[in-house]
Amino acid sequence: MTFTDLGLKPELARAVAEKGYVTPTPIQREAIPAVLAGRDVLAGAQTGTGKTAAFILPILQNLASHQARAPRALVLTPTRELAAQVAESARDYGRHTGLRTVVIFGGVSEKPQVEALRTGCDLLVATPGRLLDLAQQQLLDLRQVRCCVLDEADRMLDMGFINDIRRILKLLPGERQNLMFSATYSEDIRELASRLLRNPVAIEVAARNAAAERIEQHVYRVPKEHKRHLLAHLIVSGNWHQVLVFTRTKHGANRLTEQLVGSGVRAVAIHGNKSQGARVRALTDFKENRVTALVATEVAARGLDIKELPHVVNYELPNVPEYYVHRIGRTARAGGSGSAVSLVSPDEAPLLREIEKLLRRTLPVAALPAYPVTAAPAAADARVAAVAVQRHEGRRWQSGPRPGRRPPSRGRAAAPPASFPRARRPV
Ligand code: AMP
Repeated sequence: MTFTDLGLKPELARAVAEKGYVTPTPIQREAIPAVLAGRDVLAGAQTGTGKTAAFILPILQNLASHQARAPRALVLTPTRELAAQVAESARDYGRHTGLRTVVIFGGVSEKPQVEALRTGCDLLVATPGRLLDLAQQQLLDLRQVRCCVLDEADRMLDMGFINDIRRILKLLPGERQNLMFSATYSEDIRELASRLLRNPVAIEVAARNAAAERIEQHVYRVPKEHKRHLLAHLIVSGNWHQVLVFTRTKHGANRLTEQLVGSGVRAVAIHGNKSQGARVRALTDFKENRVTALVATEVAARGLDIKELPHVVNYELPNVPEYYVHRIGRTARAGGSGSAVSLVSPDEAPLLREIEKLLRRTLPVAALPAYPVTAAPAAADARVAAVAVQRHEGRRWQSGPRPGRRPPSRGRAAAPPASFPRARRPV
């Protein structure tokens, strides 16, 4: 995938190549086409993800090359450092376009900024305070603005800019594209987003490796048909009280939820087919520990902010390797500790390799514990799965019992661990 594949014109692709970028980052892959198409965007992305280019490049392209006196795109940032950085990037990326960028921020003399504005610009980068000062002095015309970006919106709110932002938005024409970037999602951010954005494309990426370093991760290699048994066992025997489980499809989320419930785990699914009310209820129950397992699809989990989530399980690996980093980034937030477990069936081996390539490390493979298999539909008999696993797969997916764990039985069917509940209804 190249920048040209994303729809960028040669003069922008050239500038990007001159910066030494070869491939677009995940946020660039998602945001550039959306912004080019004129969509509003809500993006969860931290510094270091390439987020600046993700919005500046398509904005420059949308501005085309007719130069106006008044700015047609506005980027608001919380700090002057960030404003200066964004403006520098815009000048770099726009160097072959003939478009002009001006930056204004407080703490320095107004005069050169006013001069720069007088000469005209296409893109204006600003901190809220100075922007309002100049607007109040009639030194700034914002009536041509067709695209407005709130960069690091969470920081702007933290710094108390909410009223300034509201006042600035009132100075802009109502008909415009809005983009919002934020590293975190608080209630305030959600509220601002819901008022500002119209049918936004939601994008979320994690900084490469950021999460991966703090989180204890391992992989269980397990046949597909045993995943649910292993998961139920991990939850019950590990006494997990809160686990976010990712499945690839809505249907898969529903089925797994039913199966977990059948195994005695309090589980609920959250995905796009559920009503907003059902999703809110599920999330509240989960946060308040009335539900142990929240089973979610990728999209449904976007923007979920759960503090101190101890366990994340990839029931199925994501097709896009970056989503792995994002998924596991839901645990161990704010310096806490957390574990991320991936249940990998043989057909998912290529996906695992892609993820490991992205992480630049191999994920440790944990030995399978002796988990019982509850047979459907009567579920009368529980068998120790490790026996079946060994028969099914040979030693390939079984790297030996973990120290201190019950070793896999070599006999026929072994009794399930006493703590393991039998399925209460057909699964
Ligand atoms: P940002 O997240 O916008 O602060 O960007 C972080 C850093 O990544 C900056 O130094 C950019 O110059 C750089 N960068 C942005 N996009 C790419 C890319 N596609 N390839 C390599 N580096 C990039």
